[in-house]
Amino acid sequence: MTTSSPSSNHRTPAFYGGVPAFPERFRFIAPQLPPLEEVLAPYSQAFHNGIITNAKCVSQFEEAAAAYIGVRHCVAVSSCTSGLMLVMRGLGMTGEVILPSFTFFATGHAARWNGLEPVLADCDTATWNIDIADIEKKITSRTSAIVAVHMYGNPNDVRRLEELAAKHGLKLIFDAAHAFGSRHRNQPIGQFGDAEIFSLSPTKLLVAGEGGLVSTNNAELAAALRIMRNYGDSGSYDPEWIGLNARMPEFNAALATAGIPLLAEKIARRNEIATLYTEGLRELPGITFQQVDPRDTHTFKDYSIHVNSSQFGLTRDQLAQALLAENIETKRYFYPPLHKQQHYKQFFTSPLPGTDWVADNVLSLPIYESLPDSTVKTIIDRIHLIHSFTAHRLSDTQRMEAPYVLESR
Ligand SMILES: *Cc1c(COP(=O)(O)O)cnc(C)c1O
Repeated sequence: MTTSSPSSNHRTPAFYGGVPAFPERFRFIAPQLPPLEEVLAPYSQAFHNGIITNAKCVSQFEEAAAAYIGVRHCVAVSSCTSGLMLVMRGLGMTGEVILPSFTFFATGHAARWNGLEPVLADCDTATWNIDIADIEKKITSRTSAIVAVHMYGNPNDVRRLEELAAKHGLKLIFDAAHAFGSRHRNQPIGQFGDAEIFSLSPTKLLVAGEGGLVSTNNAELAAALRIMRNYGDSGSYDPEWIGLNARMPEFNAALATAGIPLLAEKIARRNEIATLYTEGLRELPGITFQQVDPRDTHTFKDYSIHVNSSQFGLTRDQLAQALLAENIETKRYFYPPLHKQQHYKQFFTSPLPGTDWVADNVLSLPIYESLPDSTVKTIIDRIHLIHSFTAHRLSDTQRMEAPYVLESR
């Protein structure tokens, strides 16, 4: 089939000369924050006392978080990254640590800062979490721990991981950066493994501004972390640990505490948006989704689709460009995967086909509480339009000559 002038058709994607779906770019993320008064009430006490870090607001936050999760100990820290670094050290990890290649690089950085050797495991192509069968293949006499990531808030099969770790005498921790509020078989994430580490940075559901939280039932680890976050010194001025300054400021703790009551609604709204996207896109050839166990609760910190270019007609990156022309921003969480990054290439020793299949083809769409249904529907509509236009109207040569150049992101 040949085309006339694409711009003569008002149903032409902006990428091919049509009018953009949105007159300007809107936000890709927008943290929903609690009312400022609720933050300032507890914070003003700290402020007036002049004790503005790691004091009463922090312990109140730790108590509220431990109650929410149903875990014995929560230790607030400066970030998820510092929490991961301190937990790895506190648990005495040595040698090799098995972690997914499909993750945010902070997971790997924490291991490398501790001088640990990351052993990169593959990605499960259904759940997009770490491939448990591949972990088992990669356990050696030098392995000390498994680090799993609840990808976008999708709970891992934690029982299987706990069994595997116990069988081989390994530590098990979870990078739960995305998963505050996630539930596995109705049990809150934060109860599993030796420890789980959450992020409270502005792109996550529970926001402290910057911050992290470690949850554990291990009293010894919790006590060690309280010392470690304070340079490793418990007061003797002869530090027990090579610690960090990983303390949480009082303001951040007050902000996070006030955010806890908002979580249920945030998670419900994000699940609504995720359902809208999935329902709206599932008929398209070549578009598939992260599989969530129906017994679990996903936070949808992120929502991504998987684009099979030969079935869909465009690659993930072409779709991203076509959406950008509509003023719809997307992200590639998480691309490139660790094994293609300069500081992790050296640990890439065997093929990771699941990781490549996921990381090369995922596209994260906007998702946040205040995103209206109408916007989500327009995004869905534009993906359909882009698909049908390229599939039916353009020859291969015309596709190649599309007016937009790939923007580096
Ligand atoms: C955001 C994120 C982190 C880092 O969290 P910070 O609080 O910014 O240190 C770690 N791991 C994953 C998977 C993340 O997405």
